[in-house]
Amino acid sequence: MLAHWVDCGVNLTSSQFAEQTAAVVTRAKAANVQQLLLIGCDVAGSNQAAELAKTHQLVATAGVHPHDAKSVSANYLQHLSQLLSRPEVVAVGECGLDFNRDFSPRDQQEKVLREQLALAQSLQLPVYLHERDASETMLKVLQDYRVHGVLHCFTGNHSALMGYLDYGLHIGITGWICDERRGDKLRTLLPEIPLERLLLETDAPYLLPRTLRPKPKSGKNEPAYLPEIASQVATLLGTDLAHLQQQTSANFYRLFMSQSHV
Ligand SMILES: [Zn+2]
Repeated sequence: MLAHWVDCGVNLTSSQFAEQTAAVVTRAKAANVQQLLLIGCDVAGSNQAAELAKTHQLVATAGVHPHDAKSVSANYLQHLSQLLSRPEVVAVGECGLDFNRDFSPRDQQEKVLREQLALAQSLQLPVYLHERDASETMLKVLQDYRVHGVLHCFTGNHSALMGYLDYGLHIGITGWICDERRGDKLRTLLPEIPLERLLLETDAPYLLPRTLRPKPKSGKNEPAYLPEIASQVATLLGTDLAHLQQQTSANFYRLFMSQSHV
């Protein structure tokens, strides 16, 4: 039995956590969030995430976020490959498409996504995917690759959800589900996600769950608040917390750590 929570997406390298990373991890563990996937968003950040993962016996991703697609170096894939050979680095990402903020040109986002999907396929590693307002293009691109992984912070519509599930992806649910204004659509879609494909993540320091009480003075989200997301999810699904914990943690270990790390 897995009697602990796993946070499937933490931006521990964020400057918002500077000097506090050890305390954030300690508070997570005190809240029984025992495993964290630390997200890398560019080569330097992925290196930092790997170092933090090693220090705290956690796991990390290595990849380039669509926001950073415009500034990749000529040899960024080599750097990512090196990072991905480290035992604590378990997935390619965060990579994907963001047509909401468009911080990088769309064709460049797609190119860098395709390169990372090809890398994940050749290394047979899972991907940690980001998609905002780009599900049609994302689903089209995915058709060209055989990869497994998670569509993190899912906030899309019914047809996007069905497309990702058909493709075989897991679905990451964040504190967005706790937002009575923005989370409405997501709440109605949640029961359509099979429990064995569901992962929970805070996306800390972003997306503080709006239902959290008392509200932290810092206004920052932390992996220690994952149980708040879990309790909202359990209520919406009419399932008990222990079952949700067992299932989502098992999903995480099966997806990201089935080779050697458990
Ligand atoms: Zn993201």
